[in-house]
Amino acid sequence: MLEASGHVGEFSDFMTVCTKCDEASRADSLLEPSHPNPDALSKAELQTLLTQINPECPNCGEQAWSEVTAQNLMFNTTIGAGSSGRPGFLRPETAQGMFTSFPALLRHNRDRLPFGAIQVGKGYRNEISPRQGMIRLREFNMAELEYFINPHEPSKHDFSPWSAIPFRLVADGKEEQHMTIQEAIDSNTVRHDTVGYFMAQTYDFLLKVGIDPERLRFRQHESDEMAHYATDCWDAEIHGSYGWIECVGIAHRGCYDLEAHEKATGKTLRARREFSEPKVVEIDGWTMNGATAGPAFRALAGAVKKAVELLPAESTFPSVIQLDSGEEIEVLPEHVKRLQRTETITGEWYIPHVVEPAFGIDRIIWHILDHAYDDESKDGDAYTVLRLSNHVAPVDYCVFPLFEKDGMGELARSLHRSLCGKPNVVSIYDSSGSIGRRYARADEIGVPHCLTVDHQSLEDQTVTIRDRDTGEQQRVAIIDLV
Ligand SMILES: [Zn+2]
Repeated sequence: MLEASGHVGEFSDFMTVCTKCDEASRADSLLEPSHPNPDALSKAELQTLLTQINPECPNCGEQAWSEVTAQNLMFNTTIGAGSSGRPGFLRPETAQGMFTSFPALLRHNRDRLPFGAIQVGKGYRNEISPRQGMIRLREFNMAELEYFINPHEPSKHDFSPWSAIPFRLVADGKEEQHMTIQEAIDSNTVRHDTVGYFMAQTYDFLLKVGIDPERLRFRQHESDEMAHYATDCWDAEIHGSYGWIECVGIAHRGCYDLEAHEKATGKTLRARREFSEPKVVEIDGWTMNGATAGPAFRALAGAVKKAVELLPAESTFPSVIQLDSGEEIEVLPEHVKRLQRTETITGEWYIPHVVEPAFGIDRIIWHILDHAYDDESKDGDAYTVLRLSNHVAPVDYCVFPLFEKDGMGELARSLHRSLCGKPNVVSIYDSSGSIGRRYARADEIGVPHCLTVDHQSLEDQTVTIRDRDTGEQQRVAIIDLV
């Protein structure tokens, strides 16, 4: 499977080793200060630039590099024990299983396109120099969507929800431009509307989980950086302490993946489409004469028939033809017969195209924290607030009794228990220290709302609710919270 997907042959980074301290580095990372986009360079170009710039080793500071070599990024291992063990690899992405199980997915979707399949899980890459904390990991979490489409049918996406949102687009190495996703599609900046649709969905998702829209942009892969089969590819890049980092990739992969697995396994990975009107086709060619060819070719008869039926009508016999296996066979006039007829065709089998949004979960989480973290000062003291979005904050409420006496503690505990009993709600009960201190602890871990039970609560069953970001407090009825 990983051979068919190209991972065994082509999934590499270019590395060079410091001849002084033996530290391996990615050649493109070393050249980042001297080139706008070294990731797009070929091995030879990297070698030329490396020799010319001769950067310092990030480990020991020397300037002596080995020749640039390709290093496959997959972890290899042995599946099974002892001599029965077979070589294998940890998966470098989650996508491939969704291609090989395409027939089951298609049936599950009642043989209709478009549809999507999502897989979430771990991926493993033997990164040459895993620096930058959570940004470049050897074991990471990813979520991939394979969205299968019929290329013969126009897609019907509704872009009206994004009609007032200017997206920051860096198209094909040009200056940043601002336009709506519809304008980007109309001007062919985004080359496929399904790619545009997932860019818009990705934008919504990232904002929802707390990414600052001012620090989010979409960058198109330049043609020399794009995989050869891809027709368009955009990265959602988020700006944080490490600069602009690609966190989501949205690629139009054409029919590449399904076709590659079809070739490797011989199994059909196609969908059926019916023509709007049946087509009448003239068939003029050759087929086998079963009575004579069967005994003559025996086990090879099927392969010979397939090869003969591909021959043009003007072929003459005897003729030496080549089978799929490469074997050559002489076919005599008595083995074949002319085939001329008309046929009505109502549809055809085709290989669907696929648009793949792939999310780097760890990178997104890291940037959620980066954008939410605020270090401010309050009354001269350092004060930390984590402004997490309500959608991702791990704790939804902190419940405080003003004092643990006169029944305030009991009422607060009962409110806390009711909140914890609600689906997907997490509450923390905190009664120690001053209210100010408790607010500070809640702000530090990103709790959106704090609820305080005070003397008035005992009388009218209301509490104060404090908003983390504005500090505003309101009285609300307990009944409305639970
Ligand atoms: Zn070194």
